[in-house]
Amino acid sequence: MDGTLLKLSPSSARDFKSCPQLFKYRAVDRLPEPVSRAQAKGSLVHAVLERIFHEPPEGRTQERAEELLTTLWNEVDEEAEAPPADFDFEDDGKWFDESMRLLRNYFRLEDPRELSASQLEWWVEYELADIHLRGIIDRLEERPDGSWILTDYKTGRVPGTQRELAAFFGLRFYALVCWRAFGVIPAQIRLVYLSDPAVLTLDPNERMLIAFEKQMQALGKAIRRAHDTDDWRPSPSPLCMHCSFQAECPAWATSRMP
Ligand code: SF4
Repeated sequence: MDGTLLKLSPSSARDFKSCPQLFKYRAVDRLPEPVSRAQAKGSLVHAVLERIFHEPPEGRTQERAEELLTTLWNEVDEEAEAPPADFDFEDDGKWFDESMRLLRNYFRLEDPRELSASQLEWWVEYELADIHLRGIIDRLEERPDGSWILTDYKTGRVPGTQRELAAFFGLRFYALVCWRAFGVIPAQIRLVYLSDPAVLTLDPNERMLIAFEKQMQALGKAIRRAHDTDDWRPSPSPLCMHCSFQAECPAWATSRMP
């Protein structure tokens, strides 16, 4: 990070906000991390939802999506060198069924035959003063009037009302990048929750994005300070229960004492 632009994705920014020590393990030390069952399931469903839009509109049916899921599932099963950390082979069928349930829920929310995606799994980036924002947007649609809609698929649960704005962190990040890199403020950002299922929407505006940009610049400064002083404070929270780095983490040192 010395002398170079600090590179931040929505997930690495979120890591630092929730626990600087976690950010260090992932973004600075780049420690290897096992893939969890939830991540693997999410990747599989995301891959199907990308591929379904490569079909001609009339072919974007639920049956075709289910076929794609089965094909991808078999590919993953054959090619996987290391299964997800919490993978239980006896549970294999349940894991597939859960991915299928998420996919079927998607068709309760949207009909992809009626949608036109301009970009899928779209890599975007923008350099602010000394911070480089980057990441992948699941889907961009361009309306006939030229306005943009960004969509992000989620496999977790819909947040409560108090956590709703926080849930849009990643899409506000991408709305800012779209504005700064392409001069377009998306008319709408959408979170498609496949588990519940439900769709949350937010209409970004210039004021919101300016405030978010300031937040990113402040975050960039805080990360640089932590780096320069080598002070990456652990911030224990319920997140620790799912953290791969508990064994190394200083916050858990006493619980490891004999
Ligand atoms: S175990 Fe908890 S405190 Fe330690 S790095 Fe992970 S999230 Fe942070």
